[in-house]
Amino acid sequence: MPFSDIIGHDGPKEKLRRALGQGHIGHAYLFTGEEAIGKRLMSIRFVQALSCETTIASSSPDPCGMCKSCRQIASGTHPDVLHIEPEPDKTNPQIKIDRVRDLEHHVIYRPLLTSRKTCLINDAHRLTPNAANALLKTLEDPPDHSLFILITSRPSTLPATVRSRCLSLRFALPTQAEVEEALRNKRALSPNDARLLAMVTNNRIGLALQTDPTETRSRQQEFFQLLPGQGSPPITNILGTATDFSTSERFPDVIFWLSHSLRDLLLVTIGADRNQLLHGDQFPLLQQMARKIRPEKVIDLIEQLQNLEQAPTRNLNLQLVMENFLLRLRDATSMPAS
Ligand SMILES: [Zn+2]
Repeated sequence: MPFSDIIGHDGPKEKLRRALGQGHIGHAYLFTGEEAIGKRLMSIRFVQALSCETTIASSSPDPCGMCKSCRQIASGTHPDVLHIEPEPDKTNPQIKIDRVRDLEHHVIYRPLLTSRKTCLINDAHRLTPNAANALLKTLEDPPDHSLFILITSRPSTLPATVRSRCLSLRFALPTQAEVEEALRNKRALSPNDARLLAMVTNNRIGLALQTDPTETRSRQQEFFQLLPGQGSPPITNILGTATDFSTSERFPDVIFWLSHSLRDLLLVTIGADRNQLLHGDQFPLLQQMARKIRPEKVIDLIEQLQNLEQAPTRNLNLQLVMENFLLRLRDATSMPAS
């Protein structure tokens, strides 16, 4: 699999290919940028390129993805490559000092099959302070044959001393067009589904590749029905909905979809066209609603939704605040046109 398999990230890709071409490989790299956009995949390609059996015999720095070395690196079984991930823990996943001790042990001996002993540290911001300190000692005096790649979406959480020891490569979000094209090619999705997933995941390709478009659409429809202008549901229905939406599994979804629905409504009230909308297929309905509600009222609802989003961290009664919001959302329908 060559580097061209990675969506976007032309800048980092070129820098790494040039380093490979010139044989100027640093000891430590820091890959930064939002989650699920391809940083880890790039690190895999880079390490594959360093030891690919085909690359060594050709002038291209791109790895083949097929040889034994490439396959072992991708599957995490190559003896010269150590993959470090945070311990699985829902509330506070950490990389503890024991893992850094493993890393020290890994790099101390010469590589067996390749030119380097490599350590990939995913979500490096999860290193505990002790672990980060121990890693710093290794980074300050790395063995000649070692290579470290730290991957993080929150570089500022890492100690500056650790960051300063690494060559930093910043990964930007791929464009919507790049993500849509990748989804059409790699998953054979329709243009409509590709567009929906690109928008819903905010162009995070790693997430978009795994998201089910059918399920996404059904949730989109479910939450869109809460918008003003969709009739005036009786209060008992609203109370039931509030109970359902206040659970911790549903809550983030409710906020996510409602904020997108309201954003679309706001865009239509100020004259946006359907291509700018997540709910482009609901454009006629949104236009009808937009005639009945002023932009100020939609902005007001968006602000209330933002308050609702903060409710769990402010120890508020989630169900009560949700009921309140849904009632206001319903009442917004009866706003007189101005
Ligand atoms: Zn290969």
